[in-house]
Amino acid sequence: MSKETYSFQAEVGKILDIVAHSLYSQKEVFLRELISNASDACDKLRYRSLTEPDLMTADGFEIAIRLDEKAKTLTVSDNGIGMSKDDMIDALGTIAKSGTQAFMEGLKEAQSGGEDAKMALIGQFGVGFYSSFMVADKVEVVSRKAGEDKAWRWTSEGHGAFEIEDAERDGHGTDVIVHIKKDAKEFLEAVRVENVVKTYSDHIAQPVVLKAAKEDDADKTLNSASALWTRDKKDITEEQYNEFYHHVGMAFDAPWLTLHNKAEGVISYTNLLFIPSSRPFDLFHPERKGQLKLYVNRVFITDDCDALIPGYLRFVKGIVDSEDIDLNVSREMLQHNPAVAKIRKALIKRVLGELKKKADKKPEEYAEFWDTFGMVLKEGIHEDFENRDRLMELTRFKSSMVDGWTSLKEYVERMKEGQDAIYYISAGDAEQAAKSPQLEGFRAKGVEVLFMTDPVDEFWMPAVGAFEEKPFKSATRGGVDLSKIAGADDDEKQEPEAESKDETSGAIDALTAAFKLALGDKVKDVRTSSRLTDSPVCLVADDGDMDMHLEKLLKAHNQIDAASPRVLEINPKHALIKHLANIAKTDANDKSLDDAASLLLDQARIVEGEPVVDPQDFIRRMTAMMQKGMAA
Ligand code: ADP
Ligand code: MG
Repeated sequence: MSKETYSFQAEVGKILDIVAHSLYSQKEVFLRELISNASDACDKLRYRSLTEPDLMTADGFEIAIRLDEKAKTLTVSDNGIGMSKDDMIDALGTIAKSGTQAFMEGLKEAQSGGEDAKMALIGQFGVGFYSSFMVADKVEVVSRKAGEDKAWRWTSEGHGAFEIEDAERDGHGTDVIVHIKKDAKEFLEAVRVENVVKTYSDHIAQPVVLKAAKEDDADKTLNSASALWTRDKKDITEEQYNEFYHHVGMAFDAPWLTLHNKAEGVISYTNLLFIPSSRPFDLFHPERKGQLKLYVNRVFITDDCDALIPGYLRFVKGIVDSEDIDLNVSREMLQHNPAVAKIRKALIKRVLGELKKKADKKPEEYAEFWDTFGMVLKEGIHEDFENRDRLMELTRFKSSMVDGWTSLKEYVERMKEGQDAIYYISAGDAEQAAKSPQLEGFRAKGVEVLFMTDPVDEFWMPAVGAFEEKPFKSATRGGVDLSKIAGADDDEKQEPEAESKDETSGAIDALTAAFKLALGDKVKDVRTSSRLTDSPVCLVADDGDMDMHLEKLLKAHNQIDAASPRVLEINPKHALIKHLANIAKTDANDKSLDDAASLLLDQARIVEGEPVVDPQDFIRRMTAMMQKGMAA
């Protein structure tokens, strides 16, 4: 068969371009990527041969590196699973669809972040193989799939196209032949290559062997060739842990936390887990795969076992190795495997326990973790009833009183005398929450309000209801009575002496009635408010109604059709309201009350980030008001 030419998927072309032109530093990582792929290929064959022992025809696994100074090639060979022609077209011509789009999005951000950000990106998106074009002007891949007779050669110069043709190969496995560019000659030197392998690939479980260039010389095994997690903790350096994390986690940051334990008991297992220090791009993608690799007796089984760790810990990366899981269990059956269930329980306990330790002993570091993964961990409050209390303890909030994060326990300690609820306000973000007019009265009283800024808050809060028997209460709902709470301002004292209480409240009642008449069913009710100081009005949900923020959220996702009408609260101490109240007392039918009511309602909506319902009407009334005000 003659050569066939294929085009790279457009996105691959772009990636190749970036790889070839913008990643100058750390070119040596290409070798790590090729060794990592060779190791994966061995793992895959080892797993397959559990059920099909005839597939594996070699004595043991080996990853070989050959340097040829004359031909200017560096070759990485493995005797792993190999690739068929279709595998090659698929694996070496495209990148996964969902990843592609995210890669391009991530790239925009990384452009400003420099080399490290781009490297991190390449790690996350698994474009590892293409990194060989950093040092190559041509790459050949010769591969034969285990169980097949035919071998294939894939060739590309990295410019938009690749070719595939027939080839010969003894036995299953893959050779990646890298034709080294002029400016990367260093990778033809044994010393340099040896160094790179030792630095980045020591933890690889198969031996990585540098083949002798001359017949008389001996081959040299470059790595320790034992699975890192099986080694004694005290023999492992931080660098080695980090390398391993980069390998299993497809990540380039340093782990925020490393957990290496051996558990012995009814179920024995070893875990080497990492919590990353930065947020992966796909944390909220529904099709995101699990990040924990499951091994049975050092045989890689799967990296897609949901049963091993709950969704709210999906940021945890690493491996679990147990001898107490049946090697022959199918991947599907793992979901119902009692040993897996026990390990899951223990892993949750361990991770939450370590988080608690950090939270208690290193609150600043814990705050960094919370910034990165808090909104995911919080999902557990809703999902994991068994661990709810521990998760509540670990949860942090922004609030109207503290700068950084606060725990519920700390909030309760700060509660004012007479305060019997934990007040919160829901908003898109903390900044928006802090500006809400509904908080004015709370601030004046020195009552702290927690900011609920993650969509999951709307789900766990109603389910949980209270913390230490203090109920959660929305600051934007009716039924908030701040007068019982001892505070800096007490209503009576601030009331001007001259005005008698009755007279004022009579006028306010008249205004409330006039507003109700003017607004009709645009509002559920009009009431005086104790939660305002600076703003004339605000909107709140009635006591039994849905929280305004939740309602907005559900509406945005088409879960409900129409928002229910709100209660308009007016601030009886505000100069404008007082003025309007006087008008209402004198002539309840005064036309300007009608305009004022509509304009104030629109104002309250705007503050909530909602559109004005009838812009024409708003502009007409506003213009009329301005005209009146300025002409006077
Ligand atoms: P990743 O390793 O994250 O999947 P790479 O770009 O490194 O991404 O490799 C792409 C794919 O090419 C691999 O998933 C695998 O299917 C295939 N591949 C690469 N190298 C080998 C190899 N030595 N043996 C078998 N398959 C390989
Ligand atoms: Mg790879």
